Amino acid sequence: SKAQLFDKEKGTNVTFEDVAGLEGAKEEVQEIVDFLKKPQKYTDLGAKIPRGALLVGPPGTGKTLLARAVAGEAKVPFYSLSGSDFVEMFVGVGASRVRDLFKQAKDKAPSIIFIDEIDAIGRARGKGMAQGSNDERENTLNQLLTEMDGFGTNTGVIVLAATNRADVLDRALVRPGRFDRQIHVDLPEVHERKEIFKVHLKPLKTDDSIDIDFLAKQTPGFSGADIANICNEAALIAARHDKKKVSKQDFLDAVDRVVGGLEKKNKLISDHE
Ligand code: ATP
Repeated sequence: SKAQLFDKEKGTNVTFEDVAGLEGAKEEVQEIVDFLKKPQKYTDLGAKIPRGALLVGPPGTGKTLLARAVAGEAKVPFYSLSGSDFVEMFVGVGASRVRDLFKQAKDKAPSIIFIDEIDAIGRARGKGMAQGSNDERENTLNQLLTEMDGFGTNTGVIVLAATNRADVLDRALVRPGRFDRQIHVDLPEVHERKEIFKVHLKPLKTDDSIDIDFLAKQTPGFSGADIANICNEAALIAARHDKKKVSKQDFLDAVDRVVGGLEKKNKLISDHE
């Protein structure tokens, strides 16, 4: 589905409509869309356009989706990389990847760069990892800092980065002129889960037994990604029973299955701690 959503040259075709709930976060990123679309409105007044913002929140809450929607709404290209890609990289590769990415984004400006899991490269230096493996990560982080400083005040490139641990980030990253804004992307409340269910129910063939209010109430603590997963599981379960439509019971079974999966995952995590 990544391929469908993402075309480097044309940008993404994701819009704010695809992002359910997250009203506060959407309002904040709306300003970034405006920076990309009408930079002069700001620069004419002598304002410096922010270079970066951090999207902070638990896994699966729609940070990547929101970043894509910013690019989609502004109709600008979207360049992305994930911090976890850099974990096992050869010396020099991480830094040169960062350099290439910024070069491409500047060439095609206005544009968005999105760095998922920035904590994997942006952890405070000299902490966390074993000696040795740290060097390449530090090179990558330093390159990222250099690139962000190298921007003029208006290169038309805005860097969004996602993390679920803003507290572990290197101070240098969150200094003014770098990622100096934080946008919180939290787990959805019941009314937001309802909106997320609506988005993910849309492509499904469902029968009249479906009750979105009930589903939203049954899923406290679930992320948008969990809800997307439930909707697809429900359709798979219905298909397995050769049904023509997905029913309420299929959703309940899907919730059980996803809850079971989450419990297993949590158990694995706590066993390792
Ligand atoms: P991670 O921190 O694990 O990278 P994330 O916060 O970036 O997660 P996404 O990758 O954006 O989360 O979400 C995964 C998928 O979950 C989305 O592609 C979408 O299908 C669904 N989803 C998550 N949040 C929302 C939302 N608010 N509205 C609609 N769909 C959502």
